[in-house]
Amino acid sequence: MVCTLPSRRDAKTGVRIIKHMPFESVTKVADADFPTRWGHFRILGFEGVVANPQPCNENTPAPAKRIEGAVALVMGDIHSKPTIVRIHSQCLTGDVFHSLRCDCRLQLELALKTITEAGAGILLYEQQEGRGIGLMAKLKAYELQDQGFDTVEANVELGYKPDCREFELPAEVLKQLGVHAVRLITNNPEKVEALESAGIRVAERISAAVEPEETFQRYLDVKREKMGHIHEVLEEKTR
Ligand SMILES: [Zn+2]
Repeated sequence: MVCTLPSRRDAKTGVRIIKHMPFESVTKVADADFPTRWGHFRILGFEGVVANPQPCNENTPAPAKRIEGAVALVMGDIHSKPTIVRIHSQCLTGDVFHSLRCDCRLQLELALKTITEAGAGILLYEQQEGRGIGLMAKLKAYELQDQGFDTVEANVELGYKPDCREFELPAEVLKQLGVHAVRLITNNPEKVEALESAGIRVAERISAAVEPEETFQRYLDVKREKMGHIHEVLEEKTR
């Protein structure tokens, strides 16, 4: 399967870089009932097979094949109008342990609250711990951050790209769910661009800005300054 993918502009030349979807296949592997404290969902599992993946770390060769997993929590009628979608990257430390090193858990809660209040929507949970570098590498990056590196510098110091994520799998999952237009909860313009380039219309961007805590203020600043994220609460404060 070859599809046209998120195009990005080359930083120097401004020329659009067209990438091609590396997925050999994307398969729904499970679909089950899923009651939660937030409300009643279906829980679906998807697996994407990536042939010849790009290495994420300059010191570690990529495997010949990589299987990427994504979970979709689906609620209500997702077809009659652009549905609310959050693409959330797994953060064990934040999502499970309520870490205050990052804003992930608060964003996850915001997304689940928004979807359940609307009575419809999709939470796509991608197994991409630490912007795709993996849990152990993320903990090593935390150690470096304690020594003064920021979140981007720490990944680079460990040989990783600042962000190893691609957002092809969510777009493919949305298509398989028959969803072609969304209201996307995100602060990350790259996610909007990735979906639109993959043929999913983003009818509205809903802010995922949460009230900053002192413990992750610097993390948010770096995401804004180095990764182009938008954060209305911080922008209001610096105005
Ligand atoms: Zn996090």
